[in-house]
Amino acid sequence: MSDTPSLRIAVVGAGPGGYAAAFLAADLGMSVTLIDPEVNPGGVCLYRGCIPSKALLHVAKLIAESDQAKDWGIEFAAPKIDLNRLRSFKENVVKKLTGGLGVLSKQRKVSFVQGRAAFQNSTTLNVTKADGSQEALSFDRIIIATGSRPAVIPTLKLDTPRMMDSTGALDLPDTPGSLLVVGGGYIGLELGSVYAALGTRVTVVEMLPGLLPGADRDLVLPLHKRLEKMFESILLNTTVAAVKEDGNGIRASLKGQDGSTQEKIFARVLVSVGRKPNSEIPGLENTQVKVGPKGFIQVNKQLQTDDASIYAIGDVVGEPMLAHKASHEGRVAVEAIAGHKVAFEPNAIPAVVFTDPEVAWCGLTETQAQNDNREVKVAKFPWAASGRAITLDRPEGMTKLILDLQTERVLGVGIVGVGAGELIAEGVLAIEMAALAKDIALTIHPHPTLSETVMESAEVFYGTSTHIYRPKRG
Ligand SMILES: Cc1cc2nc3c(=O)[nH]c(=O)nc-3n(C[C@H](O)[C@H](O)[C@H](O)COP(=O)(O)OP(=O)(O)OC[C@H]3O[C@@H](n4cnc5c(N)ncnc54)[C@H](O)[C@@H]3O)c2cc1C
Repeated sequence: MSDTPSLRIAVVGAGPGGYAAAFLAADLGMSVTLIDPEVNPGGVCLYRGCIPSKALLHVAKLIAESDQAKDWGIEFAAPKIDLNRLRSFKENVVKKLTGGLGVLSKQRKVSFVQGRAAFQNSTTLNVTKADGSQEALSFDRIIIATGSRPAVIPTLKLDTPRMMDSTGALDLPDTPGSLLVVGGGYIGLELGSVYAALGTRVTVVEMLPGLLPGADRDLVLPLHKRLEKMFESILLNTTVAAVKEDGNGIRASLKGQDGSTQEKIFARVLVSVGRKPNSEIPGLENTQVKVGPKGFIQVNKQLQTDDASIYAIGDVVGEPMLAHKASHEGRVAVEAIAGHKVAFEPNAIPAVVFTDPEVAWCGLTETQAQNDNREVKVAKFPWAASGRAITLDRPEGMTKLILDLQTERVLGVGIVGVGAGELIAEGVLAIEMAALAKDIALTIHPHPTLSETVMESAEVFYGTSTHIYRPKRG
């Protein structure tokens, strides 16, 4: 395909948003420069986010499963953990994928510049390269894809390696005796699960009344129950008021909702309280780009900023800060630049928490429907009635559909259980295709699989689920 050969495009930042945009632009025949401080494309997601965390979570799941095997008559010895080899497994995964992106970049003739970009004006970037040299480069269009970084709480700032953010925790410096995880969002729970599996006593502190704010409570409950067994403690409605170094650890003051304070010492602390957009790009003030009150760059549905020649995508433009949202935005921005009639207006962006069990949802949540007083019908299929879940000895899962009462259209899907992250794609497709509950109920799903739970939850809506007996009324 080659329909816009004359355009010169720069993409600043080579995360999943930036490299997806750069690659599509090259595929459309544009002349593309991709700028990032790392040696290869990948960004946060590949170097210090999605990918290394999932490699470690895979190992955590294996440890948990080999322990559960006792119940099936198979006993393994306690795992011997070689942290150096585990670290190199994770690093090799990252190297393989980022190296692959480097090759794909070259194959597409994308000019990859290792360095940092600053704006001279709306079409010229000053690039400081890895070797310290500087170059001013001009383009027809620039796409900002600078991503985000861990949020910092000033009272929790201590200059010691014992205090970690997600990047530090993924480095896996050791398996500390105890770890305080500040924040019960997905990053804290995923990394907490890794450390707990490796033998660390993990305490999670969350200031809100529940883990994973944003997810429906019935989806979080089975995860909460399992984490309660895995972690030393989960403290809700609690904040970390202060931290200080104390001998061989960090003394943390934990403040409850009732004002009570308890002090505990932890070998390490992981602060995972959200992420901040990287919108403080030097020289951005020389352009017309506007930044909103929360630090996100403002864009329209074509991802164009207030400066006609500058587009922005990914974490730097807003929630949800997820890799797949970033790459889809990147592709829309490039198509818009190419003059195609496009807009970024998805009906559903899936969210997956890669804990054990996994939690995944897309579209309208039951909580949102309640908050908006929207009339919906929720159909739930408990995995205790799923043949596949029973063969896996993991019956605690649940699949639910949120349906429009009048049209029976699928508005949202929520799943908790092993493999929920893989299953949710069917829900996203159903929502995007405007499927009705009937469409899902009539679609033959393979047996025995967990995907049948999606079909059976649609059958639950009609009161005709094969594996759930519903007594007749009256
Ligand atoms: C521990 C962890 C786990 C995660 N797990 C998941 C997951 O499972 N699934 C998921 O969807 N998301 C996950 N995320 C979130 C995901 O990583 C982000 O949503 C995604 O990386 C955003 O992509 P992006 O392209 O917007 O930017 P980023 O990936 O943040 O990349 C931006 C790049 O721009 C570079 N940059 C910044 N400023 C400049 C400049 N001036 N010049 C040149 N380059 C610059 C940065 O160095 C970086 O390389 C996770 C994040 C973390 C931290």
